[in-house]
Amino acid sequence: MKLLSLGSGSGGNATLLQSGGTTLLIDCGFSLRELESRLAKVDLTASCIDALLLTHEHGDHIKGAATLSRRYNVPVWATTGTSRGCKWHQDSQLHHFHANGSSFRIGEVEVTPFTVPHDAAEPCQYHFLANQKRLGILTDSGCVTSHIIAQLQGLDALVLEFNHDIKMLQQGPYPPFLQRRVGGNHGHLNNHQSADLLRQLDHQRWKYLIGAHVSEKNNAEHLVRDAVQDVDRSLGARFQILEQHGPSQWFVL
Ligand SMILES: [Zn+2]
Ligand SMILES: [Zn+2]
Repeated sequence: MKLLSLGSGSGGNATLLQSGGTTLLIDCGFSLRELESRLAKVDLTASCIDALLLTHEHGDHIKGAATLSRRYNVPVWATTGTSRGCKWHQDSQLHHFHANGSSFRIGEVEVTPFTVPHDAAEPCQYHFLANQKRLGILTDSGCVTSHIIAQLQGLDALVLEFNHDIKMLQQGPYPPFLQRRVGGNHGHLNNHQSADLLRQLDHQRWKYLIGAHVSEKNNAEHLVRDAVQDVDRSLGARFQILEQHGPSQWFVL
């Protein structure tokens, strides 16, 4: 199994996951044109995408989703709440699942959605199992619940949100209502919350920890790195931060 981010942050999110002959796209927060141009940078085209999985209906996760699905005939998997939030009507390309439901299989990948506290209709995040490797993704979550901790055990790698530094958010350019939204229990994980989560997970055998959805205005890379180093120095050595403005390397598990 391998993973590549096409971009991560409030300006757009899209992540590719590949195992054997199956390629999944998790979220499509870029216009189709932008997605195509980012795919071209890693020598891929959108025609390689077998399915699109959505986490929730916020613009930074669905901007190009409908166009991608129509243009390339890509089936979309989403909770009922997310597809309603997108104002999409049922069509043959739309597959529904329950955020807290059981796993389902797309090609060679077993997909398990789990619920997260976020200000969307029926948001979820995922863990994936393929080729005996397990990858977790957690972004867009206002706090860490015991359910999330249970879902993220036994991984080989984790993509984890480090959205903001509390002080930078408080002193930053966001108006008070937006600060409350982002910092609230249905907003985004701050550096300390994510570090606390790491302390509750067995990360000894992880190959990678991948920092995601890092705010360009309310966070700084060195603060994120410090937070991870404080948890475990060896984890700091396996840590990489995703970019907003371009694709990452392939992370091979
Ligand atoms: Zn987001
Ligand atoms: Zn969101």
